[in-house]
Amino acid sequence: MSLREIVTIPNPVLRRKAHPVTKFDDELQVLIADMIETMRVAPGVGLAAPQVGISQRVIVVEYTTNEEDETAPKKLFAVVNPEIKITDEETETGVEGCLSLPGLLGEVDRSLAVIVKGLNRQGKPVRIKAQGWLARIFQHEIDHLEGVVFTDKASKIWKPEADEALVDNV
Ligand code: ZN
Repeated sequence: MSLREIVTIPNPVLRRKAHPVTKFDDELQVLIADMIETMRVAPGVGLAAPQVGISQRVIVVEYTTNEEDETAPKKLFAVVNPEIKITDEETETGVEGCLSLPGLLGEVDRSLAVIVKGLNRQGKPVRIKAQGWLARIFQHEIDHLEGVVFTDKASKIWKPEADEALVDNV
């Protein structure tokens, strides 16, 4: 495994609609392993392939599935060709940061609950129900596959003060 360079705005790959994955070959396995390592080292709680310069529909997310319980273990998701379905029309405003837009935070409305369907790294179907922050992370990452970044949707964008509480980057 190796670390990949995280690309930042205005790199055009971040604005492209990413291509569906068709081959579940060694190259894909290496990409996913590298994305997981890069996300952990960054550190971040999610990463989409365009953020490492690869215009393919692959995301990785590592976050707790139970925010109420601080001791709950983190869960790692690697989803290929993800599709998102909003299951709760209600939205919540939250603060987001992005590894590809360093030094910026924004308030973004996101749906409270989603179902993500896609394929795992072996090409087998997966279905993930996510709520709250986990749902937010999936919405943010899947936006990256459409060439959308959080500042496109943010109601307010600002540069955080040095002492402002850090937000998990995605
Ligand atoms: Zn991001």
